[in-house]
Amino acid sequence: MSNRLPFSVSKTESFYEKLGDWIGDVFYDILPESGFEVRDEQIYMAFQLEKAFKEKKVMFAEAGVGTGKTIAYLLYAICYARYTNRPAIIACADETLIEQLVKKEGDIAKIEAALGLNMDVRLAKSRDSYLCLNKLEAVMAKDETEVFEDVFYDLPDFVHGKGSMQSFTHYGDRKDYAHLQDEQWNQIAWDSVQDCFSCHQRHRCGQTLHRDYYRLSRDIIICSHDFYMEHVWTKESRKREGQLPLLPESSCVIFDEGHLLEYACQKALTYRFTEQTLEKLLTRIMANDVREKTLNLIEDGIYESEAFFNLLESVSLSTLGSEKRKVEKTNQVLNSAKNLLTILQAVEEELVFESELYVINEYDLKVVEEYLEQITYSLSLFVKSNQGITWFETHSGERTLVIMPKLVEDIMRKEVFSQEKPYIFSSATLSDNQSFNYIASSLGIDDYLHFSVESPFDYEENMKVSLETFNTGQSEEKLRYVRESILKSEGRALILLSNQDEMQSLKTYLQDVPFPIYFEGDAEISTLVSHFQNEENSILCSIHLWEGLDIPGRSLENVIIYSLPYPPLDPVFEAKREGAENSFEEVDIPYMLLRLRQGIGRLIRSHEDKGIVHILLDKETNDNVISKINSILPNQKKAEGKAR
Ligand code: SF4
Repeated sequence: MSNRLPFSVSKTESFYEKLGDWIGDVFYDILPESGFEVRDEQIYMAFQLEKAFKEKKVMFAEAGVGTGKTIAYLLYAICYARYTNRPAIIACADETLIEQLVKKEGDIAKIEAALGLNMDVRLAKSRDSYLCLNKLEAVMAKDETEVFEDVFYDLPDFVHGKGSMQSFTHYGDRKDYAHLQDEQWNQIAWDSVQDCFSCHQRHRCGQTLHRDYYRLSRDIIICSHDFYMEHVWTKESRKREGQLPLLPESSCVIFDEGHLLEYACQKALTYRFTEQTLEKLLTRIMANDVREKTLNLIEDGIYESEAFFNLLESVSLSTLGSEKRKVEKTNQVLNSAKNLLTILQAVEEELVFESELYVINEYDLKVVEEYLEQITYSLSLFVKSNQGITWFETHSGERTLVIMPKLVEDIMRKEVFSQEKPYIFSSATLSDNQSFNYIASSLGIDDYLHFSVESPFDYEENMKVSLETFNTGQSEEKLRYVRESILKSEGRALILLSNQDEMQSLKTYLQDVPFPIYFEGDAEISTLVSHFQNEENSILCSIHLWEGLDIPGRSLENVIIYSLPYPPLDPVFEAKREGAENSFEEVDIPYMLLRLRQGIGRLIRSHEDKGIVHILLDKETNDNVISKINSILPNQKKAEGKAR
């Protein structure tokens, strides 16, 4: 039994009984004595969670805003990790939220102080959160901007070839370069074109060193849903290639904002078919002493692939606010895909014969076979209607066809939820009409526990909601309204936006407001959030912080929803719309209401919080939509507002 547990358990005692006693002590004595506002709803949640850990089951923990979900699940996560000697994984909805849990004002720091615990919490961020040495060198060769030179010369000594192996430490996290704008950061951060596996700088690269660091966490690893799903999906292939899985074996997994997991699963199960990669791999095979028949087939494959990508490029259409180009599956495109599929399947068969002749390097052969298997599977989804969601992307001349499966339940059942392990879904919005069947079946979860608790806050008393109507688009009156509203609340405002165009207009219009104003993208996000939290009169404008942002106190008394958060017109949502009878009612409205509820939920974060939520509507918004918005408002007094 681990002696790192915050309570003692002898060999004859039950861990779960002692855990239950400790949880009782924490909520009834220790936290109130340390000045915590403990809520009945939170205590109820804490005792419910015990079942999931004891029975090693999935649990849907639906708890309203302000229940104190994080503290409740953290206590179990830490004890269970120490009991089993394996770290707990906490997967947050979005990469931007990872730092929120570990910030100095966050829940982890608070319970560490209150309980005298020293928790080993490490962050596993996505690859693009790390500096790529190759890209930094490339950008410095063509751009002598000081900002990149400073990054280069501030790298640890061992990166420049000085110092010993012992001095290798993790470095190169986006957070360490908080002053860089996203645009500058993207020039030096890892991107999907980088081939880390064969990179000569790998052993001294910050990304590799970070991975080695977080893997050794003894208590908790925090990552995003996307990263967790990438781990699940790449685990086996990484092992085959002699690499470690992205995450170590865990004791339990907590999906914070768990209602968003399905999309992360789809994204992770996405196949990316890149023209250049196929050509590079096939050319590598041609360099071996292969038979003429194989050579001819490979040449046909390269030729047909180029023709296929030319066609895709000519028929694909750009989509507003997204880099995903919509693909028209014309007969010509489908025929070309079928031809390519037939040729690549024939190449696969020939490679089986080649492997028996031992003329190709075994490693090269394995890599090509795996890639071909992926491409032929994804192309077979592409040629069948209704099996996958597809789009086309081009980056720096590289052309990629992306294929995402529509349904993920089978694979999630097999790869994740068949394991006997506590999986906790925590969110304010998991059920639909008090049933958890929709989320359970879409994720392949057959057996689960669940509970729901309401928010403990007095919204009637503390929250005002104002619905305001403006001319469609970014009208002058709308901008003026925002300005007046933040002057009235003396800053203290979070402005939630739906796209970059809105951000640009506000940047121009709010230039001279007499309060500090921060825009997402102008610096590293958790640094901006920290400024917003600690400078009481400041303003934060964000596209991504509709969920998870927790700023209690006077820094946030005014939430401005600049436009209704409808889903983008990209191919993922287009596919969902295509599958619906009434796409506006079944896809757009539920998505918008869910996000709106989350956005409104940013305002009241403690019993003392008070404030106003402004929801800015277009003149065209119909009465049906307005009544739906009214129905999800936490204060059921009718919202005030007027048309302009
Ligand atoms: S290992 Fe990957 S991220 Fe690191 S320098 Fe090489 S290509 Fe860039």
